[in-house]
Amino acid sequence: MSYRYDPKSLIADEFINHEEIVACLQFADEHKNDRRMLDEILAKAEQRKGLSHKEAGVLLVCDDPEYVEKMYKLAEQIKKDFYGNRIVLFAPLYLSNYCVNGCVYCPYHGQNRNIPRKKLTQEEIRAEVVALQDMGHKRLAIESGEDPFNNPIEYILDSIKTIYSVKHKNGAIRRVNVNIAATTVENYRKLKEAGIGTYILFQETYHKESYLKLHPRGPKHDYNYHTEAMDRAMEGGIDDVGLGVLFGLELYRYELCGLLMHAEHLEAVHGVGPHTISFPRIKHADDIDPSAFDNSISDDIFAKIIAIVRIAVPYTGMIISTRESQEVRARALHLGISQISGASRTSVGGYTEEERPTDTEQFDVSDQRSLDEVIRWLIELGYVPSFCTACYRAGRTGDRFMELCKSKQIQNCCHPNALMTLKEFLVDYASEATRRAGDELIQKELPSIPQENVRRICAQHLEEIEKGGQRDFRF
Ligand code: SAM
Repeated sequence: MSYRYDPKSLIADEFINHEEIVACLQFADEHKNDRRMLDEILAKAEQRKGLSHKEAGVLLVCDDPEYVEKMYKLAEQIKKDFYGNRIVLFAPLYLSNYCVNGCVYCPYHGQNRNIPRKKLTQEEIRAEVVALQDMGHKRLAIESGEDPFNNPIEYILDSIKTIYSVKHKNGAIRRVNVNIAATTVENYRKLKEAGIGTYILFQETYHKESYLKLHPRGPKHDYNYHTEAMDRAMEGGIDDVGLGVLFGLELYRYELCGLLMHAEHLEAVHGVGPHTISFPRIKHADDIDPSAFDNSISDDIFAKIIAIVRIAVPYTGMIISTRESQEVRARALHLGISQISGASRTSVGGYTEEERPTDTEQFDVSDQRSLDEVIRWLIELGYVPSFCTACYRAGRTGDRFMELCKSKQIQNCCHPNALMTLKEFLVDYASEATRRAGDELIQKELPSIPQENVRRICAQHLEEIEKGGQRDFRF
């Protein structure tokens, strides 16, 4: 059966349309050296209005160093304009590795008999959260395999309640994002009521035929149900959704096109694009050998994809995890990344273990530094590490968050929030060296809050955090 491309359709095959992608790839090949078209696309991108999947596809295939350099420069500038020099920190929390799916790239697949299966009890979750709070984390992404018997929605909801309830010393988890398998509108509504931040679901691949082979069994085999999940999530009241492709599974040019079509679809149907886009690449794991996948991408292509997404969807948050090394992360930060994980353990119960456990790891972690080290590194690179969670707690989700970005008020809102949450980290969790570097940075950054009264109130709150022991100020 053939489908017609329609970004407004609710049918996966129509809003992620194979024929449209193939046509776009051909169009890109034909125009990759067309300097007039490349100039026009870049001129449009310079207006901060974003790019279509078709335009982005042309940039991706162009390898003229002069144009690639222009793309990188523009991506860096757009990142600065919308996100300033702030980088938001989070950590994943693995709840359960029970899984009935057959994802061939994931060690949690149901057929893997090598790994011990674990599901945290609420008591164990509490202990993990205490460990995460003791590092300084305020924002988590919970992760779980799909297993209706072992990990039903009630278990996820109980876990979210437990996480929010833990108040240990000055710690608190203030935002729980959720990365669980595609589910029903009713369950999304329950997640919304439980107070989640972003609902994240990676598409893995937008190539339907490959998708079906890579997910040979279990509920995740249903490509349409998976691909249409974000529409159900939004119908269930979740405003902030996070997309992602697992790079390495399929041809990256196909994936970029699909990813941007998905973003255009959300915008067309719901009036708001994805809150975040993540950039995972396949990593080694228990019975997973990344070299078994033919479509792995080089660090250069990875960087180029990140830069192009930055200019194609200027308002969307972009996430890179500890799957990537310190070097790759440093480069990606320049090109558009706004959120990173730090000190992650990708195993169930990993944060309460002294040594990094490997037996239940979902994938090998490349960047194994402590959170304190990551924070100091960011400061040394000139970034402001932020533990801010204010937006969704103040109801600034979906299009209201995008409005904040567009109105340029972000510097009067996100910047002081970043400085105040960094200050909390410095006072409560940082090493001496990080604290010194952080305090210097805060003094340097305070004058860049444009509004005089906001600057004054922020300075006052910084003092109250340091001397008065008060926490959780926000604009
Ligand atoms: N089970 C849920 C699902 O299917 O969407 C939750 C997601 S899983 C815990 C998080 C993500 O990790 C997956 O969506 C996949 O993209 C990624 N992942 C799985 N195996 C991986 C590997 N070997 N290397 C890197 N990332 C991997």
